[in-house]
Amino acid sequence: MMMWALAILFLVMWSPSGCAQKKSFPSDPHAMETKSPLNLSEEEWRRKLSPEQFHILREKGTERPFTGKFYLHKEKGVYCCAGCGQELFTHEMKFHSPCGWPSFDREIPGDRILKKPDYSFGMVRTEILCARCGGHLGHIFNDGPTETGLRYCVNSLSLDFKKED
Ligand SMILES: [Zn+2]
Repeated sequence: MMMWALAILFLVMWSPSGCAQKKSFPSDPHAMETKSPLNLSEEEWRRKLSPEQFHILREKGTERPFTGKFYLHKEKGVYCCAGCGQELFTHEMKFHSPCGWPSFDREIPGDRILKKPDYSFGMVRTEILCARCGGHLGHIFNDGPTETGLRYCVNSLSLDFKKED
């Protein structure tokens, strides 16, 4: 009887939610475990996310520029996917961009972000998605001002933030 209670407690405590995953950057050998694809139904995503987050992450929406909570955000820590908690960027990768969205010049290594051609709205762009849950993050451009030349333009609503201790 006791064993069952313990097993259930373990399962409940272990289920990942939001940004609550164990910190795994830069060199956690178990980091691979968090990379298994997360496939939820539309109904499950609607329950998990706010309506605004659902629109951005699952319907590839875009928040209005200059409105996102992380646009002017400067705290030290890790930005992770708002859908599944996978760590994507650190504060060191963020730079201020006049475009109006949080911008990063590189990603945490480990194929955490998928890039996909996007021909919507009569433009040719490259969409970026979380490799774990397929959530839409934003777009990547080749006009970044730092040495990488890259600009990951990301919706604040696609991100959660874990402050550095
Ligand atoms: Zn994700």
